[in-house]
Amino acid sequence: MTKKINDSFQTSLAQGGENTTQPFKPIIPGIFTSTTYQRDEDNQYRSGRVYSRADNPTYDAPEKLIAQLEHAVDAKLFASGMAAATAVFQALKPGDVVLAPDIMYWALRNWLKGLATDAGLHVHFVDMTQLDQVENKITQLQPKLIWLETPGNPMWTVSDIRAIADIAKHQGARVAVDSTVATPILTRPLELGADIVMHSATKYLNGHSDVIAGALATRENDDFWKRILAIRAQGGAVPSPMDAAQLLRGMRTLFLRVRESCDSAMFLAQQLEQHPMVSEVLYPGLPSFAGYEIACKQMEGGFGGMLSIRLVGGEQQAVGTAAKTRLWHRATSLGGVESLIEHRASIEGAGTPVPDDLLRLSVGIERKEDLLADLVHAIEASA
Ligand code: PLP
Repeated sequence: MTKKINDSFQTSLAQGGENTTQPFKPIIPGIFTSTTYQRDEDNQYRSGRVYSRADNPTYDAPEKLIAQLEHAVDAKLFASGMAAATAVFQALKPGDVVLAPDIMYWALRNWLKGLATDAGLHVHFVDMTQLDQVENKITQLQPKLIWLETPGNPMWTVSDIRAIADIAKHQGARVAVDSTVATPILTRPLELGADIVMHSATKYLNGHSDVIAGALATRENDDFWKRILAIRAQGGAVPSPMDAAQLLRGMRTLFLRVRESCDSAMFLAQQLEQHPMVSEVLYPGLPSFAGYEIACKQMEGGFGGMLSIRLVGGEQQAVGTAAKTRLWHRATSLGGVESLIEHRASIEGAGTPVPDDLLRLSVGIERKEDLLADLVHAIEASA
């Protein structure tokens, strides 16, 4: 059984957090489009604002809200989830060792194998579900950073944040967690011992498939965090003020959307598990799933809105099913209010660890019975 949902966030999310940006007491914070700020007469910048490549007051409310949700001392927005994630790795030094999961968001895996390796990082991919393997690698390789993604896209592998953070601490390694799929509603990695949390805010935080953004939240305002802030300020990987405002609007319904998606995903997982043409359902909320016990420990109130199914008819049936759905949109991405279906191996391409009979499902907030009927019809029609 999952733990009870943490409903202490419901109110602050609905109200969009604290609004301290303006003297007029608007209910919705303003959007600041200015790229530059006036100096004081004595040549100082007492407002703390200089130039919008580094920062923007429009970010204040969403950043404070994310920090509050993650129980972080600070949080910052980035231009995308990838900009946020890569800033963490860029804060390391050439020659540093990194451990990353063998199942993870493919574009970040490719970046780690390519540009990050070219820049001098030594990246090792590990099965993060096997604690003894993780411990051996940490002792043997002395990594500076351990990157986790749980549930891990697109097999939804669950890794034990607390256990890995404990081992990492003993060896002096930092732990960063891509918590895009869990959202702070279901899991708060910093509470479990992680040092940094990353979100593709493009997904659940915004929730409406109309903003690209990322976020990082930190347990400590230390030198490593300061390097990350310097990377953001100097490279300018920040969202537009409009996108930051739209993200805050999306976050106001995060609690409701996540609760609904979790409920529907669980329903679909249970129903699809019984379908004779479905060979496997990958969902952390099913007792048959390998990561179920850890998911019960570290996820509260639900197991997320993402699941994958494998079809007995292989790749042909998987591609055929995606072609035949009417309600599920055939598209990449996840975490929006509309449900998406994707033949994942097609987008990941050669070398992907994802089986070619797998369909990834991002469950939105439509009526769950309609979603099931549409999917079952498509599966059977493509047999
Ligand atoms: N992390 C996960 C789990 C994702 O699914 C994605 C995007 O699909 C990213 C990170 C990257 O985020 P963005 O597309 O906002 O750069």
